[in-house]
Amino acid sequence: MIAHPILWDSGVFFPGLQLWLDPRLPRPRAVVSHAHSDHVALHPVGFMTPATGRLISHRRTVIGRVHALPYGTPLSLGGARLTLHPAGHVLGSAQTLLETDFGRVLYTGDLKVRAGLTAAPASVVPADVLVLESTFGKPRYRFPDSGEVVDAVVRWCARVQADGATPVLLGYSLGKGQEVLAALAGAGFRLVLHPVLHAVTEVYRELGCSLPDYQRLDREAPAEGVVIMPPQARRAVGLRLGSHRVAALTGWAMDASLKDRLQVDAVFPLSDHADFDELCQYAEAVGPQMTYTVLGFDEDLALALRRRRPAAAAAAAITVLTGLNGGSRDQYLCAPMRRPGLRGALAATQSGSLGGSRLAHTAPALTRESATRPTGS
Ligand SMILES: [Zn+2]
Repeated sequence: MIAHPILWDSGVFFPGLQLWLDPRLPRPRAVVSHAHSDHVALHPVGFMTPATGRLISHRRTVIGRVHALPYGTPLSLGGARLTLHPAGHVLGSAQTLLETDFGRVLYTGDLKVRAGLTAAPASVVPADVLVLESTFGKPRYRFPDSGEVVDAVVRWCARVQADGATPVLLGYSLGKGQEVLAALAGAGFRLVLHPVLHAVTEVYRELGCSLPDYQRLDREAPAEGVVIMPPQARRAVGLRLGSHRVAALTGWAMDASLKDRLQVDAVFPLSDHADFDELCQYAEAVGPQMTYTVLGFDEDLALALRRRRPAAAAAAAITVLTGLNGGSRDQYLCAPMRRPGLRGALAATQSGSLGGSRLAHTAPALTRESATRPTGS
């Protein structure tokens, strides 16, 4: 048995399998959960869904050897079984299930629980160990009903047009842009896409995604309709749009200061991630004996999950996943135990029986560098 079967090393790391999940830096072999650039690196060997492989090749990121794994198709991997399941986040996004000799381990990757319009809905995958993304892992991130948010976006666009201006909606070129496009189907607007977003949307269509008619933002002709563009294109394009107003569509809209920080005219809380309640409910539905929180508000979410669990589940351990990050394996193994429950500490130790095999997850004692400002939208 491996004493420390799960670590953080640029991503979730299984030393016994020499397998990394979503490492930000190149690693010998890695699962790439979806095509967002902060989850993709130049790995010699990569496992991903066919749609993620196609979207990555569109962005010209070169991964040596790609193993395309459709959802639900298991692959044997050094004594473990790897299966990808829908994560609902963007087209092709996957949760990773590893069936190992120390139990079933589920890594959610970026996760959206509520049904979207352009990605297969996330399925609950029962597991013994859950590695849960925590982008919106704070109680203040409770998103309203998506249908009501879309209705508000439609009303805002109509008001802007009635004032003689062009409505501009900001959303990432992969995922959010297509989700907004699909949400505005039937609203009666002419829908105009920034060229970068347009190119990714063409790939979505090629992959079978159903979308309303749209057109490419023309360099010369004025935009007539609702313009959807990635946030970073705003300044370059805004200059030639004439009179326009800008709205940002993101889960960070729950922060009261976001409108001022982004200097936009409106914000709407439309996210491609699960909100706080959905993360908690998802963790409970998976029913693990051990939960690691990673990325975003990982400490807040671990604390909330510990408080929510019923007394009968008190034995289940919940902690932030920590790991190597520059330290040698020797340093990692020899690091001293400090305050339980805090980053930089040996946060939890849990032993239990799982299907006849012993589980011994011991969170290591080194700080994880990446736990800073959450990404995602
Ligand atoms: Zn993502």
